[in-house]
Amino acid sequence: MLRQVADGVLIHQSEFMQTNAVVVHGRGGVLLIDAGVLGDEMVCLANDLSNSGQTAVAGFSTHPHWDHLLWHASLGAAPRYGTARCAATARDRLSDPGAKARIARMMPPDIIEQVPLELLGLITGLPAESEQIPWDGPRVRIIEHQAHAPGHAALLIEERGVLVAGDTLSDVLIPLLDFGDTADPIEDYLEALRLLERVAGEVDVVIPGHGSVGAADQVQARIDHDRAYVQALRDDDAVSDPRVGPSATFGTEMLGAHERQRQSLARRGEHDGRS
Ligand SMILES: [Zn+2]
Repeated sequence: MLRQVADGVLIHQSEFMQTNAVVVHGRGGVLLIDAGVLGDEMVCLANDLSNSGQTAVAGFSTHPHWDHLLWHASLGAAPRYGTARCAATARDRLSDPGAKARIARMMPPDIIEQVPLELLGLITGLPAESEQIPWDGPRVRIIEHQAHAPGHAALLIEERGVLVAGDTLSDVLIPLLDFGDTADPIEDYLEALRLLERVAGEVDVVIPGHGSVGAADQVQARIDHDRAYVQALRDDDAVSDPRVGPSATFGTEMLGAHERQRQSLARRGEHDGRS
């Protein structure tokens, strides 16, 4: 079911990891950001759109992770975009014949059958340095950074005061760093938070890729939370984060993710001769 979070901006939340699909009303149809995860949920979204006389005229993937690259035939054949780097990474990772099987193994076994992979990752990269999504609707500013995944885009829907944060600023997931594609994942993340902080004053509603929508007073708080986590990880300080631990929504998974991030960072330190 679609839920309005700002004028002309609605979300559809998946049962899988509270993943948020975002619908933005334009003049001739809607922009659909990170369309969803489970097939029947995307069909439900397509029905909700057609019942309200709308169709998707553009799609956008915030970053090249499978749960943000999906689409369903019932949503139509609108052009789907990502940053140039996001699209190149998706193309790269999906280019070999075993790619989809590999991606299926990354999913919880109980949802594999429910995730339609036919249209996975079929996105067009926007020219590098593109400042906005090309579509006939409210201006959507692209804030590209390299935290979490290559070519990750946060999107600022300026007239609506809405920040679509992708996989940062979540109230349920800790910052998950990209250790595979970058020389300095910690600094990449901190730089992304600086970019988001620069627009925080314009934001009334923040929509994370996973988790709950935050109001204006949550924007800076979530930036601060993410920064505190990343700095504690960098400095190998004890982490006291409400998103980690048995009482948090995905607290057990986040505890495991935190441990893996500590180990990845320690291995990097050994390589660099820092410890
Ligand atoms: Zn992700």
